[in-house]
Formats: sequence, structure tokens, C-alpha cells
Amino acid sequence: MRFDPANKLPKRRGSIFVISAPSGTGKSTLIQRLRILVRGLAFSVSYTTRPPRAGEKNGREYFFVSRAEFKQRMARKEFVEWAEVHGHHYGTSWQQLQKAQEAGQDVLLDIDVQGYKKLRRRIPETVSVFLLPPSFRELEKRLRHRHKDAPEVIAKRLEASRKEVAHWKEYDYLIVNDRRATAVQALRDIVLAARWRRECQERRVKEISKTFVGG
Ligand code: ADP
Ligand code: 5GP
Repeated sequence: MRFDPANKLPKRRGSIFVISAPSGTGKSTLIQRLRILVRGLAFSVSYTTRPPRAGEKNGREYFFVSRAEFKQRMARKEFVEWAEVHGHHYGTSWQQLQKAQEAGQDVLLDIDVQGYKKLRRRIPETVSVFLLPPSFRELEKRLRHRHKDAPEVIAKRLEASRKEVAHWKEYDYLIVNDRRATAVQALRDIVLAARWRRECQERRVKEISKTFVGG
């Protein structure tokens, strides 16, 4: 990222990207690959009361906290949005978003449809992507093959997916995660194209346009 020496502000404003998908679609897999492909893309690490899955690390996938701590953070208004998903609380930290935006970094949020609605009300320029599996049956297969959730948890997530998918119309972009490589490429295209949006380039262009005044 290049900085403007005059005021130390980054030339480009960072964007906020939301990715939502029914659990098991492949969102975490695609996000992991996207982050390797695209530089300057931060990931918002949410707070959750869900227990960690095998292989998950505190501070990497999530900050794993107790219900009491989550409530304290809610009371202190630390979350830009929060929601109850599959019986657990999940929340996005205001501070993380602000820090990244101030540094001119893009931030990626993996949040559910309720959280996205709340966020979009507060930050309307949010860029949103809804990921879908090729079919319900394929989603079921992916959840089972992941071997990370108990059968009753899988059943709950599958049931929730029926409602979640109905929200696809509220998103800016739709990607079907059929072939992994194609889906990652599509995500990359969206993130890179957003960097040229007027909102992101405005600061720089205003400086340039000043040089055209008078004379
Ligand atoms: P989510 O984060 O959406 O809950 P995961 O990234 O954990 O989902 O993926 C769920 C399972 O599906 C994993 O076992 C993953 O390897 C697999 N998977 C992801 N993308 C694809 C794909 N395009 N085709 C087949 N399997 C996939
Ligand atoms: P998982 O438990 O599988 O990691 O995530 C379950 C769901 O919670 C996913 O749909 C994920 O997008 C959502 N989620 C994760 N973090 C947040 C958050 O901070 N806010 C909201 N609203 N949803 C979240």
C-alpha cells in the first residue's frame, strides 16, 4: 500500500467484503485460498461462544469466548453486528474493521445473513457475496465428509440452510462453489475489481483534480 507523504493517509480506501453461505458450502476453504492469492486482504476474526473444532486456534479462526464475556463485549458496544447462529453467539469487532480501513486495507467478513443485514444498514457500501453449493444433496455430502460436526449438529445446519438460501437476492454477487478453482477465481475478480470503485479511489482522484483547478 502506498501512503500519501503529505498526510500519511493511504491513497486508497479499503473495502468491506461479506461472504455468506450455508454451513458446509466451502466458504472457509475458499477464503483460505483467496487470502493466499490476494495481497492486502485482512480477515475479520469474529468472537464466538461456539467451542473450537479440531484444528481451530484461538485468535485465528475465531476468538473463542464464554457467554458471559460475549455479553460484556456486547454491553460495551464492541460489535458492529452480532447474531445468534446455530445456537451460538457470533460478533464482528468494530475495532478490527476500523483499524483495517484506516490502513487502507480490504477486510473480509465471514458472517451469516442476519449479520450481513445489520452491517449493510450501518455500512451501505459493503460488497457482498453469497456462495451456494451446487445442490442441497451436495451440501449434505460436504457436511458429512468434513467429519467435524456431530450428526445432530449437521441436521441443524442443513435445516438452517433452507432458510439461508432464500436470502440470495439480498447480495451483490452470487457464486456457486462447484469447481473450487473457478469459485476462488470469481472471488478474486470481485475483490480486485472493487479496488477501482469510485469510493475507494476518491481520495486520490480529488488530489489529482485539484491540480486541474485554475491556471
Ligand atoms: P464452510 O466454511 O462453508 O462451512 P468448509 O470450507 O469447511 O465449509 O467446506 C466443507 C467441506 O466441503 C470440506 O470438507 C471441504 O474440503 C469441502 N469442499 C469445499 N469446496 C468444495 C468443492 N468445490 N467441491 C467439493 N468439496 C468442497
Ligand atoms: P461456523 O460455526 O461454521 O464457523 O459458523 C457458523 C455461521 O456463523 C456461519 O454462517 C458464519 O458465517 C457465521 N458467523 C461467523 N462469524 C460471524 C459473525 O461475527 N457475525 C455473524 N452474524 N455471523 C458470523
